[in-house]
Amino acid sequence: MSYLNQPDYVRYVCNCGSLKPISKIYFCRYCWKIRCGYCVCHEVDSHYCPNCMENLPTSEVRLQKNKCSNCFECPCCFQTLSTRAGHVPLRVAPPEGEDAKDGKTTPKKVYYLSCSLCRWTSRDAGIPDQSVATGGWPEQENPHISRINALIDYHKILASIEKQKCEKKKYSLPKYHYTPITLFERTSFTSSRFGRSGLVRSYWSRQSEKPVRPLVVQPSPAIASTEVEELRAEIFTEQVDITKITTLEQRLRHPDVQAENVNELRPQHRQFFVKKSLRCRVCEHNLIKPDLCPHSIKFKVQLAAFYHVPEIRIITCEPLRPGRSSELLLKFYNPTPHQTQITLLPLDTPMTSVVTVVDEKEEVKQGDGQQGSESPNLLPSIVRQVPVTVETRPVKITANADLVLPHSPLILSRKDDAAEYDYSADTHNFQDDPKLVIWRKGNKAAIKLHLTPHENLEESENQSVIIGFVMQYGYVNTITTLEHKAPQKLDLRVKVYLTVGKIIGSA
Ligand SMILES: [Zn+2]
Ligand SMILES: [Zn+2]
Ligand SMILES: [Zn+2]
Ligand SMILES: [Zn+2]
Repeated sequence: MSYLNQPDYVRYVCNCGSLKPISKIYFCRYCWKIRCGYCVCHEVDSHYCPNCMENLPTSEVRLQKNKCSNCFECPCCFQTLSTRAGHVPLRVAPPEGEDAKDGKTTPKKVYYLSCSLCRWTSRDAGIPDQSVATGGWPEQENPHISRINALIDYHKILASIEKQKCEKKKYSLPKYHYTPITLFERTSFTSSRFGRSGLVRSYWSRQSEKPVRPLVVQPSPAIASTEVEELRAEIFTEQVDITKITTLEQRLRHPDVQAENVNELRPQHRQFFVKKSLRCRVCEHNLIKPDLCPHSIKFKVQLAAFYHVPEIRIITCEPLRPGRSSELLLKFYNPTPHQTQITLLPLDTPMTSVVTVVDEKEEVKQGDGQQGSESPNLLPSIVRQVPVTVETRPVKITANADLVLPHSPLILSRKDDAAEYDYSADTHNFQDDPKLVIWRKGNKAAIKLHLTPHENLEESENQSVIIGFVMQYGYVNTITTLEHKAPQKLDLRVKVYLTVGKIIGSA
């Protein structure tokens, strides 16, 4: 797994043209294509507090300003604060007629907030202790709240005016469009944004309503001024105590107040985290869908590429010299439960995917298990965000070494979790070319290739030797559709660039 955090030596080309390591790409089983972070819609599924794991609906999260009402974080080190109990002596008022001197002192339980990491406490900041553990902590007022609210209200009005104008433009069509028959014909096609009832309603309301021009009172604009408060005279002579001044990070954590001194820091509500689902922009199927429960780390849909696309790792490469042939050892890893055949093709191969065979036998074997297990997870189109297709960018990287590609394909057996722990000899009967395949175990195999860096390369710090090829791999698509009841066998292609090392010495 540590391999996933290393620099990107092996990069796969996404269909949008960006180069990504296999740990950062997804595989759409419906388009049979690689998708990167730019090629998927990011949607927020749920908000939750990382401390108390409270899960709230979006409308409430907005009201709470994306912050948990129960949990606080330390204003110094940003760890979660814990509530501590303490005792303070409380003088009970003596009953009538008794001497005030005999009044008993009984301890009273009080609560304060404390950081277990940096030892900051709410008592340090001068916040009074609370008598209940659940809080009632004083809220820090934003000094600019009235101005912010005025601006928000003003922009809400502007947004509604804009929306009205848009709707007016949309439906200011000739009258015959609104005869009942054409109305319903239209709605059946244009159901993407407004439901049928929405269109009818807006049509009828348009008939009765007169154009309303809401009264907009523009808040007074902010005025820039050149006059700045003068600095205190002592600021140049006073010794600076860094421990009493807040850091930039501490100030930027609370941009509304930006306390200058450490003792002005106040505990802040903990921010919510989100669970995100990713959707393919082309076919709108979910590629990643987390379990909604905040306690769960599981996924309902998890189409990361390293579960579907063969992974390539560089084992070793001989020292690289311009114009000289070097040996390169690569390891291929098949993550799927089906045997696959890998063919390496030159970079200029067209990137078309080929459906090779529809295997009738496998239909009987696998049809029952797979049927209905995959739901398309499609939301109604009104809820979803409109997909924006990313334009394909040209690949900027160029290969600067010639690679001798093998003539024979490499067959990788299926991934078998039990075989990982089986140390007995592998019982595979692949007719491997001994010059190509040098090692094989389970679903992994190492191959030997030869590459020659271009003559014009020079030894320098930033010049890396890059090779590229198109990897064609067999993929079994187990998604059953109405047209394809049997799992399809496909030959998919992906462009891969490998940074094999730096030039050492000259030819
Ligand atoms: Zn992409
Ligand atoms: Zn919380
Ligand atoms: Zn702290
Ligand atoms: Zn797709």
